[in-house]
Amino acid sequence: MSQLVSIFLHLLLFKLVAPVTFRHHRYDDLVRMLYKVHNECPHITRVYSIGRSVKGRHLYVLEFSDYPGIHEPLEPEVKYVGNMHGNEVLGRELLLQLSEFLCEEFRNRNQRIIRLVEDTRIHIMPSMNPDGYEVAAAAQERDISGYLVGRNNANGVDLNRNFPDLNTYIYYNEKNGGPNHHLPLPDNWKSQVEPETQAVIQWVRSFNFVLSANLHGGAVVANYPYDKSLEHRVRGFRRTANTPTPDDKLFQKLAKVYSYAHGWMHQGWNCGDYFPDGITNGASWYSLSKGMQDFNYLHTNCFEITLELSCDKFPLQGELQREWLGNREALIQFLEQVHQGIKGMVRDENYNNLADAVISVSGINHDVTSGAHGDYFRLLLPGTYTVTATAPGFDPETVSVTVGPAEPKLVNFQLKRSTPQAAPKRRIPNSGHRGRVLPKKVQPRAARKKEMMMKQSQRGPA
Ligand SMILES: [Zn+2]
Repeated sequence: MSQLVSIFLHLLLFKLVAPVTFRHHRYDDLVRMLYKVHNECPHITRVYSIGRSVKGRHLYVLEFSDYPGIHEPLEPEVKYVGNMHGNEVLGRELLLQLSEFLCEEFRNRNQRIIRLVEDTRIHIMPSMNPDGYEVAAAAQERDISGYLVGRNNANGVDLNRNFPDLNTYIYYNEKNGGPNHHLPLPDNWKSQVEPETQAVIQWVRSFNFVLSANLHGGAVVANYPYDKSLEHRVRGFRRTANTPTPDDKLFQKLAKVYSYAHGWMHQGWNCGDYFPDGITNGASWYSLSKGMQDFNYLHTNCFEITLELSCDKFPLQGELQREWLGNREALIQFLEQVHQGIKGMVRDENYNNLADAVISVSGINHDVTSGAHGDYFRLLLPGTYTVTATAPGFDPETVSVTVGPAEPKLVNFQLKRSTPQAAPKRRIPNSGHRGRVLPKKVQPRAARKKEMMMKQSQRGPA
């Protein structure tokens, strides 16, 4: 008898504490989950919205930080974006799981998670296309199969083909000289993109993101830029051709960190496709124009990869726990990758912070800039590098630095104001490909800075 009571109590207890989240979450449910995590971990989280979808649904972000809502200098910003294609739903559920996991483990005094949250500002957007999701979920409930149902936003637009095309611009510049980073948006860009895309563009311009992943489904592979092939159309077909960025080796490593920490991605054979090491250059798989990852790299300081996480775009509920266990370590390890390379402050002689200073690494034709607080982050593989900081009105400063495999190396710059008679300005040491000297874009973007400062002063749930 007492044994029966014990079993009954055990079952009851299990029911009370069992994870309730291994199920698909419609929009209202998703919002409830985000606030539930926030309420459980109010001191290390913040819920905010970056804008609304076509149908008026919020594009919510859950932020994890020891100081939510505040950028702490030298603490990098990272992001995860899920469900950009409304019918690719695993990323959405994994990001909810991840949110709950970070909160619980922080509360359980898991030292690894505490360190991650204290040293990193993490932004999690489970759904970039909540309208598409509702269409896909409704079709799923009525058992209507359709590979593309719910993929696009409510205007029928594929959001991963909706960002301004900066690749054409960079391929021209790589050949003929010109800026190698922060390529400008077209003047009328807002009229050319969907509301969800516009919200994301404003978001990525207002935080100095360093690292990011965009979660999709339909294959199992970690895909890195460029997505758009350099080759032109050949007889109506877009040729696929490996199209590496100047940071190719670093991107391959970032992709491998995910695939090898993932339960089975690294094995290569998945969903009837084979990808060595479970990674691929986007363009060498299939060429894609106006995608989000290329945009991040070409318009901001952010290095983004695209994770294809499941053969089935809308996995059965019963699959979700296995998928979470297969992805959990990879999701954490990828976030930890933001802590490598070099970082530091750029200041003038009076210790004023210099925003938008350009950090160039010799041999890598892609610069990064310091953020609104004067701090910069440059992801680099271990090695010895010649690094130069430049800002308009200041003499460039060049240092040699050796980067190890673990912690990022702190490299601060203190720039001296150039003397007026020193014009013409000293040339920046060459950091271009194949020994070419490329003109650098070093103009401060005052408008962007102002917007950034305004955004970062806004606090509290939206
Ligand atoms: Zn997709």
